Amino acid sequence: MFFNQEVTMERVFNFSAGPSTLPVEVLEKASKDMMNFNGSGMSVMEMSHRSSEYGAIQADAKASLRSLLSLDENHDVLFLQGGGSLQFTMIPLNLLSEEDSASYVISGSWAKKAYQEAEKLRKVNVMSSSEEDGFSYFPEISADKMKPTDKYIYTCVNNTIYGTRLAPEKLASVDATLVCDMSSNILTESYDFNKPGLIFAGAQKNLGASGVTVVVLNKELLATKEGELPTMLDYRTHIEKDSMFNTPPCYNIYICGLVLDWVKRMGGVSAMEARNKEKAKLLYDTIDNSALFKNNIPEGDRSLTNIVFVTGSKDLDAEFVKGAKEKGIVNIKGHRSVGGMRASLYNAMELEGVKRLVDYMKEFERNNG
Ligand SMILES: *Cc1c(COP(=O)(O)O)cnc(C)c1O
Repeated sequence: MFFNQEVTMERVFNFSAGPSTLPVEVLEKASKDMMNFNGSGMSVMEMSHRSSEYGAIQADAKASLRSLLSLDENHDVLFLQGGGSLQFTMIPLNLLSEEDSASYVISGSWAKKAYQEAEKLRKVNVMSSSEEDGFSYFPEISADKMKPTDKYIYTCVNNTIYGTRLAPEKLASVDATLVCDMSSNILTESYDFNKPGLIFAGAQKNLGASGVTVVVLNKELLATKEGELPTMLDYRTHIEKDSMFNTPPCYNIYICGLVLDWVKRMGGVSAMEARNKEKAKLLYDTIDNSALFKNNIPEGDRSLTNIVFVTGSKDLDAEFVKGAKEKGIVNIKGHRSVGGMRASLYNAMELEGVKRLVDYMKEFERNNG
């Protein structure tokens, strides 16, 4: 039976890096709204994007994000499509004229991809990179190393694959215009979200379902003339039409709104940070006190949201991943490019899930240490 809730199996602890686990409250609300949203007689995905009902959903989601990030008047919020990856193209296209340049801090393969896309369009240079060391630390980021023609420093703040991140106080101390990929750590820690000139984040890690990307930008940074860029690739188009130039990903924005409401009810970003620090500490402490599991990332660079660890043996890693599944711990395998294990502890992951994981780690170590 299609709509029988009873058939739902017990939910697992899903440590996926993205798309990733969502708060149960959000899923329950979405499921309640599915057949008849707020007395409209239809679901949100059946509504005209020009209807007042849908308009309110999008406006509320935007207002929630503005308030959770404490954004000032200089920053606009956009809901775009094309994933985080399209921002690799839109950023240099919109923020650099042909004469301008930008410096890229290559903190992981997402930053590297962003650099490679930017290179096709504009003058860009590498400020620093930790690639030679397997991206095992966050490379140096400093305004002193900029070129005179540089308009911004680009970096990926949290490296989903490698488990490193630029700490809030380090980000705040960079004396330059920053462009930040925060796909895997927006709303998870108390950053000064007004500090960067532009932030973007695909929704599928901390904000909802894949299909919508949030962009927060200071429009004074736009370097192009009106009408110069392809319409859909021009931030101006989406700023002027309030992310409704064409049909927005309505349902995804609605889910995003539900997640943002949940974050507000939970106490906002500072409450998320406290919760995320507690979860991360439990896992890092378990790793650091273990003779079997290792994480060699310098303490100050350790991500709160993506925690990587290895046993040192590929066979044991595979066994660990396999045994985890039997305990209802899924998607714990590391990215295919690095192997080992990765636990993504985004906002929606409960402390309960991390407790289950560390109990299993201890048991595994007793049996295999
Ligand atoms: C997932 C991810 C991306 C890619 O996002 P898409 O929406 O798949 O294009 C980019 N940057 C970071 C840091 C990510 O974690």
